[in-house]
Amino acid sequence: MSALVWFRRDLRTQDNPALYQAAQSTCVYGVYVVTPQQWQMHGLGAPAVTWWLAHVQALQKELQTLGIPLYLLWVNDFSQVSQGLHWLASQLKVSAVYFNREYEWNERQRDQHVTQTLQAANYQVVSYDDQVIFTPGSLLTGQGKVYTVFTPFYKKWCASLAQQSLYTCPPPQAQKWPKLPEFPQATPFRICLHWQTQDTQQIQAIWPDYPWDLSAYTRALYYPSVQAHGVVGSEAACQQFEAFIEAQQAVAPYRAGLLDYTQARDYPSLQATSGLSGALAVGALSIRQALTRIQAVDAEALNPSAAHKDAGASRWVAELVWREFYRHILYAFPRVSRNQAFKLETHKLAWRHDQAAFAAWCQGRTGYPLVDAGMRQLVATGWMHNRLRMLTAMFLSKHLLLDWRLGEAFFMRHLVDADLASNNGGWQWAASTGTDAVPYFRIFNPSTQSQRFDAQGHFIRTWVPELAQVTGNEIHQPKDTTRARVGYATACVEHAQARQRALEAFKALSA
Ligand code: FAD
Repeated sequence: MSALVWFRRDLRTQDNPALYQAAQSTCVYGVYVVTPQQWQMHGLGAPAVTWWLAHVQALQKELQTLGIPLYLLWVNDFSQVSQGLHWLASQLKVSAVYFNREYEWNERQRDQHVTQTLQAANYQVVSYDDQVIFTPGSLLTGQGKVYTVFTPFYKKWCASLAQQSLYTCPPPQAQKWPKLPEFPQATPFRICLHWQTQDTQQIQAIWPDYPWDLSAYTRALYYPSVQAHGVVGSEAACQQFEAFIEAQQAVAPYRAGLLDYTQARDYPSLQATSGLSGALAVGALSIRQALTRIQAVDAEALNPSAAHKDAGASRWVAELVWREFYRHILYAFPRVSRNQAFKLETHKLAWRHDQAAFAAWCQGRTGYPLVDAGMRQLVATGWMHNRLRMLTAMFLSKHLLLDWRLGEAFFMRHLVDADLASNNGGWQWAASTGTDAVPYFRIFNPSTQSQRFDAQGHFIRTWVPELAQVTGNEIHQPKDTTRARVGYATACVEHAQARQRALEAFKALSA
């Protein structure tokens, strides 16, 4: 009996349920389906695509040491995947296809079609939950409903986890490199075992800015000890994780780790968060690996009791639960995968149309220093600090009153860690069209946020060089004369007026 493992966003050999189970067969092959047109339709950009493909190549090497070939199967989009996998399964003469589940709407439709096609041809199809601890739809309120507010979801998640033990599966045992079949000369799909120049060219044609410089992201985020050993792949993700656990602010003032996470995580000028979002997005690190390691460091990390909730480890786990929460939301409310608001009543909101304001936001020229610093960090590195993702998203949707979908798409195009569930969840939270329990009048004051989270202006000066020489409190809200002198943008809206405009637009929904 031989089996085919279809890798998707689970690009690792450690703790990979589909791979581990498939490897109980006599012979295992792997496949990664490259779907460039679909990625384009999903609005992904060169940063995320480059990151994914670098991880596919790292996985190929990892699998090679285990004697498992990883094929690259090229199709245009999801509509061709079932045909392509059926063809490959028949060529390899496997009896089963294994994969780990994805929860986005198009991915679910694709998987359903693949399963039906393969089962109709008598292949066994086996799938597992991998990105989450609990199957979406399995954690319900006392009334049997899906949780739509984070805190009760988090409590239920912790209580449910306390009832079971966390389990990670080992990598599969090495096998003898199998004899590979000769494919017919004229194959219906492009299939290969090695990344070739023409592959890069094909991708470049879709993203002319490819190859995007991954080192910009990794320089900004990865710990030096990890950078020295290469930053792509599951081994690098584990090293980055260890470096985060060990980092201490007392030793390196600009770098903090797990212990200081609660106090330091909101300050963008500190490297105080794990930087693991890219690894988690492609599955170079699994959620179970992350949680078991954290539990070994702090046995109480999964305990949301008041006494322990402020410990760094507990707080970090809560962030991983946000990630899982948004996956459950995406699954239960497929409309959010399809460009629609979670809160249906906000469909009628009168968003403005203002291309100049949108361009100023994209280019980091709003005249609000911390907003601009965040946007410039995103475009330059493919990553933005969480506090600034919230601030810039709220600025676009509330201060500029521009449709959150514009910003969501811009983030998708520029983020290395682009992930539909977390990005959509974050955007809808900020725009008050989503699951935020606080009503629409939560509108951050960008200057106050700047004073609180970048008090000395270190982060602003790093990313907005025009303001490098501006001193004191003026860094948060430069005077007009200063702006003119250093060539920095005038504020594109006035905070109080913009806030009032947003409040009125939301109020009009219930009029
Ligand atoms: P850490 O603080 O170390 O957190 C650990 C992990 O928890 C992260 O790697 C991430 O997987 C998860 N996490 C942390 N915060 C959140 C959150 N608010 N929501 C969901 N998961 C979270 N995250 C993405 O991975 N991809 C996205 O496309 C994305 N888009 C976002 C858009 C907006 C508007 C907002 C407000 C947030 C978005 N986030 C997204 C969540 C969060 O900003 C990033 O996960 C985080 O900044 C990544 O840095 P880190 O790995 O150092 O995080």
